[in-house]
Amino acid sequence: MELVVDKLTKNYGDTRALDCVSFSLCPGNVLALVGPNGSGKSTLIKIVATFFPKTSGSVLLDGNDVFSIDPAELARYIGYVPQFFSYTKYSTVFEMVLLGRRPHIKWTVTKEELERVQDALDALDIGHLAGKYVDELSGGERQKVFIARAIAQEPGLFLLDEPTASLDIRHQSEVMEVIQHFAQKKRSAVLIAVHDLNLALRYADSVLMLHEGRTAGYGHPENVLTPEQIERVFGIESEVVTTRNGKFILPLRAKKKTAGI
Ligand code: ADP
Ligand code: MG
Repeated sequence: MELVVDKLTKNYGDTRALDCVSFSLCPGNVLALVGPNGSGKSTLIKIVATFFPKTSGSVLLDGNDVFSIDPAELARYIGYVPQFFSYTKYSTVFEMVLLGRRPHIKWTVTKEELERVQDALDALDIGHLAGKYVDELSGGERQKVFIARAIAQEPGLFLLDEPTASLDIRHQSEVMEVIQHFAQKKRSAVLIAVHDLNLALRYADSVLMLHEGRTAGYGHPENVLTPEQIERVFGIESEVVTTRNGKFILPLRAKKKTAGI
């Protein structure tokens, strides 16, 4: 699906969390949302998911205002993986991932539905955990279950809020590859908040950098993730190094806020 966000603004009381943010995302593309803590990433994702009302601006999904789409229909279009998730400990991994199919299931769960769940588990390499209870998993395994649930849902728009936060280095790359592959295969649009700028540089088609709710950079990852921009927004000196395997951001040192301290 195509997502177009235009001049989106959000106030929480006196706090302006998003200020006139615009971007567009084409089917099959991955847009990475980067920015320091509190820069508005989760707010943006939650408004696109219609969990919160916006203050002004527009969010269009294939040309339709998301807030006017029937919630049952929207549940088929949008797959959301939250930054902090709640779950019932009485579900098995298989049941949890099957829940992702709920918006599509009419009366009975067909063999095809069960196969889709199995495919999603296999894609994330957690098939062996299918019979385990969700509270018996490590934080990283549980995070993969929630990603598998969203993949099983086969949404046209995938919203992921720091999905790699509790994963080790191998699983971070694995999850990003699964998401990128899924986006290309299913022509889904992916909006993903990430802290690791190298993941954004490697896997995203475009990057939106937020700073205090405002757009600090938007465009091709290599044009947005420059040492100058990173220093201005994150307050850290860095270097972009070119290796045989592509470009990498090397964080060097935090910029001193006050001289002499
Ligand atoms: P990020 O995900 O980039 O860390 P958030 O979108 O969570 O940022 O937060 C952006 C700003 O909005 C922060 O200043 C935060 O304190 C504020 N904020 C977030 N959620 C709420 C809320 N429910 N009520 C009031 N302020 C909020
Ligand atoms: Mg957040």
